[in-house]
Parts: sequence; structure tokens; C-alpha cells
Amino acid sequence: MIRPMLASLALVPLLLIGPPQALAQSSQGCQFILGFQALHALVPVVVGGCLDDQASAANGDALQHTTNGLLVWRKADNFTAFTDGAHSWVNGPYGVEARGNGQRFAWEANPSRLPVVQDPIVQTATIGKSVQGRPITATRIGGGPLALAFIGDTHGAPESATVTLIQTAIGYYRAHLNEIPVGETVYFIPTLNPDGLADGTRFNADGVDLNRNFGTVDWSTGANEPSGFVPGAGGPQPFSEPESRAMRDFLLTHHVVASIFYHLPWGGLYSEPHSVAFAQQLGQASGYPVHAPGQDTPYPLTGTAHQWADAHGEASVLLELRPDAGIEWQANERAMAAAMHYVLAQAG
Ligand SMILES: [Zn+2]
Repeated sequence: MIRPMLASLALVPLLLIGPPQALAQSSQGCQFILGFQALHALVPVVVGGCLDDQASAANGDALQHTTNGLLVWRKADNFTAFTDGAHSWVNGPYGVEARGNGQRFAWEANPSRLPVVQDPIVQTATIGKSVQGRPITATRIGGGPLALAFIGDTHGAPESATVTLIQTAIGYYRAHLNEIPVGETVYFIPTLNPDGLADGTRFNADGVDLNRNFGTVDWSTGANEPSGFVPGAGGPQPFSEPESRAMRDFLLTHHVVASIFYHLPWGGLYSEPHSVAFAQQLGQASGYPVHAPGQDTPYPLTGTAHQWADAHGEASVLLELRPDAGIEWQANERAMAAAMHYVLAQAG
């Protein structure tokens, strides 16, 4: 049965998992080349193994049969796609995206005027603006009711590695859509502080530390910083800044149930009372040491985002990358997977 609902598309990759067919060259003696090889490498369990070699159709398209369906290179718009008969995975300008066969993405050739997909599995939206008017963006992957958020850079230029981490994660999960569990939506926010990133500072353009500006019970206008105590670093009042308000409103309106806020360089996981089990699972998966609530930070923290989220019912942690260790992708990919599984287990 054809299932045109986009919400159900997230289910499809998992349903298609059969015997591992990851090799470009199969026992059939056929192989994937060029664009088909690239698409197969991005979503191998979706495409499956080859059954024959690429051949030309009468209209100039290229076709190749696989164990799970048909690969098509379309002469009309030069995109490569795979279809299982009901859905298509198209390797387009935003990576591999899936849609129903009776639909088109806005960027595809659409001579038959099929309905344009309004709600793709991968979508990037602006969730707020900085003091200087720069957009704060969230990339959504997945379409399930359980929402998670991975938030990169809060502390501007000195912690720009966290932007790279989230951008890497977006690229990875775009290409591995089937690693987002059925029933979940994951939001990736590369930076909450684009002004600090552009201006070479840890603070926002008002001189406020956004991770001291959340409306926690311990918020205060003066706050501890790596350089020592700074009067006004917490802002004149909780949520005085557009960036922290945007984050608060995003978490609330999208009903986010679990979040990780990335920082550096303390090299560990820091949690609040409701999120201890979450932090322990992330620690187990990633190898980052887990610190008990209120313990082991170099100085007391006030008005932090993860504490606010924890107090509002989320499982939320502060994940500090190690100094000068890059994005530690493998450890963080394991931590992200563990976060997704934690949310599923809690819901189940
Ligand atoms: Zn930080």
C-alpha cells in the first residue's frame, strides 16, 4: 500500500533493513558507479545490493535495479534518486531526503505539477535572532513526536569547535536517516551565539554570558567567568537577551524532552538532579566522566541553560569537550545515539 503521509516516511528506512548489503560490488558481478555509488554509500540499507549494472533508458535517464528497488539518474534535473516503489530518496542540494513518489521537493524538476513537499524530514528553520540580527537556526531531522535538541555554541568564538561538532552531526544524520529512531525528531542548533562567534568573544553583543542568563532559581546578575567574577555577566534580568529567550521558547514550544548543551574545555558531563541517569548513560556510551549535580565545576555556575531545562522537566546536560581535542566525533556520535535511545526507553 502506498503511504503518502510524510510523517510515516521516518519509518521506512527501518522497515527496509534486510541482510547487510553495504558492499558496492556484489556477488552478482555488478557494481555501483558514479552517482549511484555515491547515493548507495550514503544510504546503503535503503538501496540494498545491485542486481545489474547501470543502463540507459529511452528517455536518457540511467537506471539500475537493486535488491530493494530502482536507482534512477534523471536527465531532466541531474539528480540521483532511489525508489522502493512508494518512496524516493533523492540526493539533492541538502543531502539525501525522502518523500513519497507522488510528491516533489521544491528544488526538483516538476513537469507534472505534483504536490510539493511542505514538511520534509530534514528542514532548517530560523528560531530567533541575535542582538545584532543574525539568525539562530535549527535543523530538524526526523518526524516523530519525541523531540531532542543538541545545542552547539553558546560561548561564541572561544568554543567554536562546538559549531563544527553540530554541523558534522547534521551532515552525518542527513546521510544516516535510519539512525534517527522511529518516533523521534532531533533538532540540531549549531550556535546560539552567532554574534559572539563573529565578534571573537564569549559574550553576546550586549556583553552578557548567555549561559548565565537563564531564569534558574540561582540566577544572579553578577556571575563567575573563566576570568573571575564579572558584574552584569548574567544580564540585567533573567532572559534579558534575545538569544536565551529564543532558546527557552524553542524548547518549550517544540516540547523537547532531552537536550545536550555543548561547551569546552572541561572534558566531562555535568548534570542537575533530574538528569543524573541521562548523564550516566551518555557517559557510559562516550567515555566522558560524569559529575554529580553541583560538583566539580571550577567555579559555581548560575543561570545555566541545562539547569533551567532540567528544572522544566527535560533530561538535560552540559557536555564539555576536552581542550584541544577537536570535536571528538566518535565519542559524541555515541553520546547522541545514547541520548536518542534514552528518550525511547523513557517513553516506552
Ligand atoms: Zn561554554
